[in-house]
Amino acid sequence: MGLLTEGSPLSWEDTKKYADHVRKHGIQQFLNLYHKRQGRTKDVLYWGDEVEYQLVKFDHANRRVHLALSTQDVLKKLKENAEKSDHESRAAWHPEYAEYMVEGTPGKPYGGLVAHFNVVEANMRRRRQDIQSVLNTDEAPLSLTVFPRLGAGNFTDPPYTPNPESGASRSIFFPDEAINSGHPRFKTLTRNIRERRKEKVCINVPVFKDTKTPSPFTEDFSSMDDVNGEAKRSAKPDHIYMDCMGFGMGCCCLQVTFQACNITEGRLLYDQLAPLCPIMLALSAASPIYRGYLADIDTRWPVISQSVDDRTREERGLEPLKEDRFRISKSRYDSISSYLSPGSFCYSDIDLTMDTEIFDTLVNGGVDKMLARHLAHLFIRDPISLFGENINQNDEEDTDHFENIQSTNWQTMRFKPPPANSNIGWRVEFRPMETQLTDFENAAYTVFIVLLTRVILSYKLNFIIPISKVDENMQTAFKRDAAVKKEFYFRKDILTESSPSEATKCSSQCRIECCVGIDDEYRLMSTNEIINGSDDFVGLLTMINTYLGSMECDVETQCTLQQYLRLISKRASGELKTTARWIRDQVADHPEYKQDSVISEGITYDLLKKVSKVSQEETEPSLLFSHHTMTKETLPPAITNTEKYLNKKNPGPRPENNTASTTNGFDEDGCC
Ligand code: ADP
Ligand code: MG
Ligand code: MG
Ligand code: MG
Repeated sequence: MGLLTEGSPLSWEDTKKYADHVRKHGIQQFLNLYHKRQGRTKDVLYWGDEVEYQLVKFDHANRRVHLALSTQDVLKKLKENAEKSDHESRAAWHPEYAEYMVEGTPGKPYGGLVAHFNVVEANMRRRRQDIQSVLNTDEAPLSLTVFPRLGAGNFTDPPYTPNPESGASRSIFFPDEAINSGHPRFKTLTRNIRERRKEKVCINVPVFKDTKTPSPFTEDFSSMDDVNGEAKRSAKPDHIYMDCMGFGMGCCCLQVTFQACNITEGRLLYDQLAPLCPIMLALSAASPIYRGYLADIDTRWPVISQSVDDRTREERGLEPLKEDRFRISKSRYDSISSYLSPGSFCYSDIDLTMDTEIFDTLVNGGVDKMLARHLAHLFIRDPISLFGENINQNDEEDTDHFENIQSTNWQTMRFKPPPANSNIGWRVEFRPMETQLTDFENAAYTVFIVLLTRVILSYKLNFIIPISKVDENMQTAFKRDAAVKKEFYFRKDILTESSPSEATKCSSQCRIECCVGIDDEYRLMSTNEIINGSDDFVGLLTMINTYLGSMECDVETQCTLQQYLRLISKRASGELKTTARWIRDQVADHPEYKQDSVISEGITYDLLKKVSKVSQEETEPSLLFSHHTMTKETLPPAITNTEKYLNKKNPGPRPENNTASTTNGFDEDGCC
């Protein structure tokens, strides 16, 4: 989950003293890097996924399942095995927030060959096998977003008792032993977020009101060492209350990073994918249960956002500003608040809290205003973990202070500058998605996003809508069954004449004259319409298939890609369930379930046994289709809506020469 610096962590009081120092040098480090690397161009497409897993241990005799706190041992063995292996597809392993989590990425990023789409799933499958090979037979790695009874009673193996008096999180539910013990960063972040906020974090998500759920739904925390009655005060009626970072950062997600050919393309892709974040969050929804209760939300997003919210009462607007500098409208873990390309200015319609001194330093240092706004916004935050050995740095060579603030802004998209002393280019990370149960699904969602970036570049697609509407969509995306029951603001015409990176009609002064009419550019659509198209909207799959039609692509890869696109298509149309809906239905059908929203240990055991089986066998008709059997002969025709759409549109959508060409990332040398 970001930068891991070695050394001794400072207390919050000491970290705070160095906050200005870290920000000042962090920005200087960015400026130095920017001037060295902004002109860098012709980088090739590289890309890779990150999949997070939870390690679980089954107790079959007693029908129980717990989170196995074994990541230190597991990671050590995985890394040793990876070093020994000379296999091309070996994985890279990374620690994550919890002592029951591991993160796996491909050992090397994938490149600009279409055939690479055909190795993602095999690589993911091998990663799962690699983890399984160092576990006992009663243990399993699950790519499940949230453990249903996280923080409910004894949920770890071995069991530990929370320490609300003096633990790093002070949680009454989540013992510090469940936080990664291998690096001090994780506990330090936990403690410092709490100390900066001056109280424990407070997470409330609505409970799902089933026929026998008490109304109002309230919990009695009196037997739980509820220090000063904080839980009693903080828990909202009809909500599931949680009280520490682990409830959010202890969830698993699926992320995709790709390298742009230069900074301009990186900024463009960052902007273009931002409106897709809520859509993909809804389509990947996989987490309807928290702390042993069915919730009325389907994704982890509101939980993780509240779980690291280090804003003080002043910053949250609950008290007048006295000690703090800004009112801040969002948690450090939230959706992005501004676009990056000059032509997207009109659409960055949220009042952006910025450190104006930092903004001036950047602009005086030669950075344009859109990029300066982005950074001056990220840098309103304090560093929340700092290591004594790391305070004084060489700003010409090091980037740790920059990375310190950058990597603790956990937003839907991340713009990643080239790391110091590396040959890596400007990269963009797509971060909203939840992990799916199987390698097939995780590969499908990953490939879908990477393909979309190629299509955006090739056809100069434009998805930009006002960023306030993207935020409204985020609020919709985590609701129960949002993927099929809700509608999202989406751009009516994505085949516009020019890409916003080129349209510099707006400057920061002219919002009023230039920005008129943008409210006519979008309307509400279902995910089905966005993905599969309608008479009035081309649909993303049509664009992807048109693009694939223009590519040289071997039959095997074509089959694989069509299966992936079909999964996304069927999730959007509702023909296949989201993981969240599937989990809800498993619970509803369980004989132990009493329609009271309670997820017992027995239900959790059966659910996770089923999850483990599905993740190995990859057959579950309501969630997946039988993709193993698809061959060239049985492959259905590609989903395409082009004719229907083109006939309606006057004039035609794109000039002839605007087909997949030099910017598709799949040229012979893979260079844009
Ligand atoms: P973080 O946790 O900071 O997001 P990770 O290193 O865990 O980063 O994962 C980043 C992903 O980016 C991995 O899938 C990796 O394969 C991929 N990757 C590595 N190098 C590049 C590159 N030059 N361009 C694009 N992606 C890359
Ligand atoms: Mg991670
Ligand atoms: Mg990572
Ligand atoms: Mg990442």
